[in-house]
Formats: sequence, C-alpha cells, structure tokens
Amino acid sequence: MAIDTSISQLRVAIVGGGPGGLATAIALSKIPNVKVTIYEQASVLREVGAGISIGANTWNVLELLGVADSLTSWHETWTTLNMNGRSGKELHRREKARNSVKHPPIRTQRTKLQSALLEHIDPRILQLSKKLVRMFDLGDAGVELHFHDGSIITADLVVGADGIRSVVRDTAWPGYEIKFTGTTIWRTLLPWDDVKDLNPTFEVTGWWHSPTTHVYFSPVGDGLWEIASRAWHDPAIHAASKVSWGVPVDNAHVESHFTEYLPEIREALARVPPGNWREFAAFAGPELAELTAWDSKVVLVGDSSHALSGAFGSGAGFAMEDGWILAQALAHFGNDRRRALALFNAIRVPYYARMYAHLAAEAARRAAKLHEIGSPSFDERVEAKIITDGGSAMAWIYNNDIGAVWSEAVREIGKEK
Ligand SMILES: Cc1cc2nc3c(=O)[nH]c(=O)nc-3n(C[C@H](O)[C@H](O)[C@H](O)COP(=O)(O)OP(=O)(O)OC[C@H]3O[C@@H](n4cnc5c(N)ncnc54)[C@H](O)[C@@H]3O)c2cc1C
Repeated sequence: MAIDTSISQLRVAIVGGGPGGLATAIALSKIPNVKVTIYEQASVLREVGAGISIGANTWNVLELLGVADSLTSWHETWTTLNMNGRSGKELHRREKARNSVKHPPIRTQRTKLQSALLEHIDPRILQLSKKLVRMFDLGDAGVELHFHDGSIITADLVVGADGIRSVVRDTAWPGYEIKFTGTTIWRTLLPWDDVKDLNPTFEVTGWWHSPTTHVYFSPVGDGLWEIASRAWHDPAIHAASKVSWGVPVDNAHVESHFTEYLPEIREALARVPPGNWREFAAFAGPELAELTAWDSKVVLVGDSSHALSGAFGSGAGFAMEDGWILAQALAHFGNDRRRALALFNAIRVPYYARMYAHLAAEAARRAAKLHEIGSPSFDERVEAKIITDGGSAMAWIYNNDIGAVWSEAVREIGKEK
C-alpha cells in the first residue's frame, strides 16, 4: 500500500497483548501512517485458560484480519447438548445448519488462536514486561504512559486492550467498578484417551447442569479434551474480594462443588492430573455510555470496554471486531482521531448495550419462570436455566458480519454528506 504523506502519523500505544490487542495491532498495521506498539505486562505471551469457541462472527473478523488460514487444529461443534448433570437426561440438543458456511463452528485451544494472531505480528512492535501503572492526559501533546519498570512513553492514541481489570479504563473512567458476580470457573485440558471409557456422550460438546453449577465438556483438537466447570454462590455472602484469575487449585476443592453429579462426571473430574486445574473468579461491571475518553485520545477494545465476564462465550471475537472497526474508522478519516472514534462509538456502543439488555431480560425470564413454578424441584430449576433459543434469536451476535456492519456504516455516512 502506498503511504499517503498528507496524513499525519499517529503513534498508537496498545496496552495488552490478548486477542483484542493483537487483532488491533494487525488491523492498524495495514493502514497508512500509524506507528503501533503493543505493551504487554507479561514477560512471555501465554494464554491462560483451556479452550475457546469460534463461530461465524469470529471467523468473519479473522478473515478480515487475514488470520483465518493460520488457525489449525480444532474440534467441530455442529452439535451441542444441554444435559441434566444428576439424571443424565438430555434437555436440549442443537444441530447447527451446515449449509453455506465457509468455516465450521469450532472449539480450539486458546493457545492456537494466540499463535495464529502472533504469526501476523511483527515481533518488533511487541514489548513485553511492560505493565502500565499510570497514565496522564497531556492535552494536545498526547497521553503519557508510565510502566512498572520505570519507563515512560507518549502516544497520540492509547488503546486499552488490557482486559477486564483494565488500568486504562480505571484511569480514564475513574469511579468505574467491577464486582464479583458469584461465579467461579475451573478449567483444564486433558487427553481424551484418559476419559473416553467413561461415557461416549462426553465426546459431544455439551453442558451438564445442576441448578447453580455446570460442567462443560468438549474436545478441542489434537486429542485433547476440555473441562470448564463453574459454580455460582451468592456474591453477597461469598468472597466478594476474590481476585483469582488462572491460579492453580487442588482437585478436592473443584470436586467439592460437583458432588451431586453422575458418577462418571465425578470420575472425569477426578482424573484431572493434580495441579492442572486453574481457577477464574468472574467479575462484571456496568455498561459504558462511550468507549472513548480524554478528547478521543483513549479508546477501549475487548473486555475492558464491556465487562460482561465471558457472557455469550464470544468475547475474543468481540475484542477482535473492536480492533478491526477501530482501524477502518481511522483509515476512513485519515487518522482524524475525533471523527474516527465518534464513528467507533456509534458502531460499538449500541452493540454492547444490546448485550447488556439481553442479559437483563434473560435474568428476568429465568426469575419469572421459577416464580411461576413456586417451589421448584432440582430438575425444574435445571430446566429453567436452559436457553433453547440460542439459534436464530442470537444471530445478531453469533452470525455478526463485521465487514457488512462497516459497509453499512460507510453507506450511512455517505447519506449524511
Ligand atoms: C470462562 C470464560 C470462557 C470464555 N469462553 C470464550 C469463548 O469460548 N470464545 C470467545 O471468543 N471468548 C470467550 N471468553 C471471553 C474471552 O476470553 C475474552 O473476552 C477475551 O480474552 C478478551 O480479550 P481481550 O484482549 O480484551 O482481553 P484479555 O484476553 O484479558 O487480554 C488482556 C491482556 O492485557 C494484559 N494486561 C492487563 N493489564 C495490563 C497492564 N496494566 N499493562 C500491560 N498489559 C496488561 C494481560 O496480561 C493480557 O495479556 C471466555 C471468557 C471466560 C472468562
């Protein structure tokens, strides 16, 4: 691409090297006159967690980033199940339509997605062991970023891709608070061969439920199998100060939350090699009215911008969509930050607002269902949890075509002129 020298060069500091930060860097690297640097706190870029789902929305953005072909090895998730974890009764089976899709819905290892993105990053733009601790608004001179190692840099635009506990967000949106949701998640990977004798249904991606817990089983490719289990406790009573994220926990602690489950599920949990479980405490925060601050010198992408604590199981896709849209908006307005970030807000804020509204409606639906039953049994409480309209009703998320969203936004701008 020829560089248009009439456009002023923009120094962009991306804080965080997760899917959001890496995708933003890839997208920005394709547009003229942008100097991108990623500042990541970790000394080695590694993904904690086990597997990740990639559906049509995420494939769409991976295609636009040019990364789709770099992703290898996965398990196809055409069929997903919801089961009663105590009785083994099948409550809902979803068969995704196979027609006219370029890529299958998949579950893969998080490290695979990370490697695919990293393949498209010039290593010289990635600075490790750079933990952002403070940020100052210098007015027209930009934003000053201070790192834990004592170094200081100045940028014209800061992209907060630093996840749910974002320092960028907490600095530019003072007073914003995230809270423990009450949900604790334990995740691990183990060889499928170690558990395949237990129950053939475990090879189908699925959720096994009790009223306040579930255990998720799925192959992830390469002969590996994932367990992602979660339990909810009233956050008003339980450990609201919990901050565990990816910390090792012992098997007995995890198993103690799933004693009501079928013996073969308990046996699968017991076969996890000691030391392999990682615990994650889920936090969430309110929606933001704008994802930009400090006179368009700060913008949030990914989990920092919508602290939904992994709801919808597609947050990596959302983070990458944010990064791609940000780059298109900057390119469209020749690096005019104010106009570009206004458009970014106009596209992404309503999308996240719709997610918050959906979650509130879903919680109300579930409460009403339980209220209607009166004194629900174990099985009735499990059934009230199951969402059976995960298909067409949720297409606005899972089939989101971010390229088409962008084309539509450009058409709208054209009409305004
Ligand atoms: C249990 C669970 C299951 C999920 N399942 C799925 C799924 O199946 N599919 C899917 O698409 N999404 C899933 N998600 C969501 C997905 O993991 C996140 O939405 C996604 O990782 C967000 O990407 P991000 O880049 O915004 O943030 P993160 O992945 O959190 O990355 C943030 C990065 O910033 C760095 N950082 C943080 N603070 C600083 C600092 N001060 N200075 C410098 N660097 C910093 C961190 O080290 C990290 O590398 C799930 C989430 C959870 C909790």
